[in-house]
Amino acid sequence: MNEKTWDKIHIRNLEVFGRHGVFPEENRLGQKFEVDADLYVPIREAGLNDDLTKSIHYGEVSHFIASFMTEHTFRLIEAAAEQMAEALLLRFPAMEKIRLEIRKPWAPIGLPLESVSVEIERGWHQAFVAVGSNLGERENYIQMGIEALKARKDCKVEQVSEIITTSPYGVTDQPDFLNGMIKMRTLLTPWELLKVLQETEQQAGRERSTHWGPRTLDLDIIFYDDQVIDARELQIPHPDMRNREFVLKPLAELAPYLRHPLFQKTVGQMLKELENADTAEK
Ligand code: AMP
Repeated sequence: MNEKTWDKIHIRNLEVFGRHGVFPEENRLGQKFEVDADLYVPIREAGLNDDLTKSIHYGEVSHFIASFMTEHTFRLIEAAAEQMAEALLLRFPAMEKIRLEIRKPWAPIGLPLESVSVEIERGWHQAFVAVGSNLGERENYIQMGIEALKARKDCKVEQVSEIITTSPYGVTDQPDFLNGMIKMRTLLTPWELLKVLQETEQQAGRERSTHWGPRTLDLDIIFYDDQVIDARELQIPHPDMRNREFVLKPLAELAPYLRHPLFQKTVGQMLKELENADTAEK
């Protein structure tokens, strides 16, 4: 969905001291850890202009890793890796993704081994979230949905479409909707994002009573990168989007050339097809 970054900066075998471990002696005495990191950052501009400000300072990243590993104590290197990856992605915004490996060469398992390690890849993902409301203070509820995402450090709202008024879909005997689209970057997985959206809907006083019925706040994941998910609780891309003008119109304002990973059509094409079908019906 985003243009992919192939450029990387490698940090290899950074030796750091830490007190991570499940044994009390490990927490008390500490030991050596080794860290590898691949920083995914577009470096063409830095390369063409020989300009460090257009890249990421690997010295700063290395010192950040060393301090993080020393100042925090985790039982698991899984936790050290997870939380350090997030801290690094937040601290160095030009980094789109990171591969992080933490090795524990002196892991006290009572057997000789070269090292044990965990390796993770974490990064920013692009998501489009549809927002709608047709009950009560509709503008306020829409705003509440947007603000809830803006308030999170693991979500960055990049753009919000115009909020449009639309007639209800499915169950037509209910008030008009306000609908819009949010373009965002997130460190959350699709499932974590779904949970955040559902909690926000609940805070807006939404009760899940009737399917397609009136709601104070509705937040749906339309796209998440070009991922396809088909589970009972979560389908991405949102299955009914091609039939919903109130989804396609605001989405086309933000991303007309975005291509549906299954239909292989752009958002603009899908909107045009829907509008043509509507006119044919009339
Ligand atoms: P709705 O009443 O339209 O908000 O539908 C809510 C239900 O749709 C929840 O049970 C969700 O688990 C499910 N769902 C499936 N796919 C999605 C999606 N892409 N975004 C949000 N909810 C979804």
